Amino acid sequence: MKSKFQKIKGTYDILPPESKKWNTSISILQSLSEQFGYKEIKTPIIENIDLFKQNIGYETDVSKEMFSWEDPSGNQLVLKPEMTAPVVRAYIESGFFRSKPLCKLFYIDALFRREKPQKGRQRQFHQFGIEALGSSEVEQDVEVILLATKILYHLGISNTTLQINDIGNYETRKKYQEKLNEYFSDYKSSLSKLSQNRLGNNSLRILDSKEEEDIEIIKNAPFIKEFLTRDELNNYSSLLSHLDALGITYKENSHLVRGLDYYNGTTFEISNMSSKSQNALLGGGRYDNLVESMGGPSTPAVGFAAGIERLLIESSTEDKNETIDFFIGFESYSEGAFKIANQLIDEGYSIYIDTLKKSEKNQLKNAIKMNASFYLRCDESIKLKNLTSKEELVVNNISELKKFIKL
Ligand code: AMP
Repeated sequence: MKSKFQKIKGTYDILPPESKKWNTSISILQSLSEQFGYKEIKTPIIENIDLFKQNIGYETDVSKEMFSWEDPSGNQLVLKPEMTAPVVRAYIESGFFRSKPLCKLFYIDALFRREKPQKGRQRQFHQFGIEALGSSEVEQDVEVILLATKILYHLGISNTTLQINDIGNYETRKKYQEKLNEYFSDYKSSLSKLSQNRLGNNSLRILDSKEEEDIEIIKNAPFIKEFLTRDELNNYSSLLSHLDALGITYKENSHLVRGLDYYNGTTFEISNMSSKSQNALLGGGRYDNLVESMGGPSTPAVGFAAGIERLLIESSTEDKNETIDFFIGFESYSEGAFKIANQLIDEGYSIYIDTLKKSEKNQLKNAIKMNASFYLRCDESIKLKNLTSKEELVVNNISELKKFIKL
């Protein structure tokens, strides 16, 4: 039978048993972040469009479009497409910059981008991410990367590559950008339409292009490493030696840039080596100027964001078979059944009340299918069956029942 309604393009339902795996993974993400001393932040789904337009360059990146509309009061609103800007907005608005000189936050949230849906790319998707605000030290970058690698380890994701780069400060990037402009201008007609549009103001982003016609041209483009100052190079090599000391393997990629404008310094991405398309699991880096540009005090910051759907595709965490303690069935004596169910719940047992009022044979079949430990049939008497040992007895009340069960 075809449903009268279908889900919106680029969205999907998380159905059982997948929802169980989802929750297990979310718990892993939460508890690891907390182990590292990060606290959870939740922000509204809707924001003002300017938060993203003015601060993070969404208006300049034509491939990233937002779901936006005008409310009856004339406000331009959007469904949030990313989390760094909302986190920074909340950080400034809450005054955390005063009370928490080093503020470590993590989030798990739904995001919305009007992109072309494909495998691993939806219009509504979820991200787990962290933001550490307040420290400009390279050790902060090390901690953020360590947390990212731990997340993958605990989700059972292997076969990944950590790519790392330093994209320098604003001055360095300006010089690099000029050089890139010169280089890409020579190939203008061979570049993809998207990259041609980025030529000029956004030539750094051409490096991020996955378009086939751009790949060869990008390979020979100048490298930012040649433009980094002595301090930037020292910082970068200190980061790499910390990673070496921790045994975290990485691949330097001097062409690695992040999709949005506000990044500087350390930039990294972890991708999956086995899948070809949409293989970026997470990406992050420093954004030392964003807080100030959004009206807060000058605050260095670093973080990353991971796509939860993509993590789940790769995750090998196995859920144990779901079980229940008591499958409770009845045909007419439902009051007695509910009394027992009520008590069992209070005692901490898991139960499944079958309200279909079918035959004993039918209920028993379903109890076995659901991996129940006991089947409880409430008629004039209460019949209890241990589904492992197949022992069966008639009980009169819950204390008699408890003598029999060993859970
Ligand atoms: P970004 O915020 O674009 O840097 O993306 C960070 C991570 O979020 C990526 O590495 C992906 O894992 C995930 N991601 C980004 N866009 C999507 C999307 N449209 N659908 C699913 N996952 C996404």
